[in-house]
Amino acid sequence: MFVLLRQLHSTRKSARVTRPARRLSLAVRHVDAGSCNACEHELGATANLFYDLSCHGITITASPRHADVLLITGAITRRMVTPLLSAYRAMPEPRLVAALGNCAMGLGVLGDDRDLAGPLEQLLPVDIRIPGCPPTPDQIIQALVSSNLAGQAITSA
Ligand code: SF4
Repeated sequence: MFVLLRQLHSTRKSARVTRPARRLSLAVRHVDAGSCNACEHELGATANLFYDLSCHGITITASPRHADVLLITGAITRRMVTPLLSAYRAMPEPRLVAALGNCAMGLGVLGDDRDLAGPLEQLLPVDIRIPGCPPTPDQIIQALVSSNLAGQAITSA
């Protein structure tokens, strides 16, 4: 185990993955509103030992009542509107909404009008936009860390 951790440390060093100088806590509640699962894969990868989302003070929480950020993946299907709004209403203030991936940003990758409820922007105030199909773990972490430190709405590059 110790050898593995040492190898991980040197891999992170050679890949120039740095730990943040300042740590604030941020709890993220994820809702899949109708994705192809690729965005979930990349989001899941942020929590592995290499990307180590938790070292930035950011955790994924199972309950919206403990969440600071509602992070949404996928096109917004009609069936997911009620669960999405319920999760948002259950969150304490102040709360942020993040659209992860081109589908959640309403760029029309998946689905058609019969299945979709429309752009996320029409349902909830979107504070953080993370474009990509799918975005990489680095892009996801960068967007969440930036919003955490800046305390303001951002669009990831
Ligand atoms: S943005 Fe791309 S990867 Fe993400 S859910 Fe939509 S189609 Fe899948």
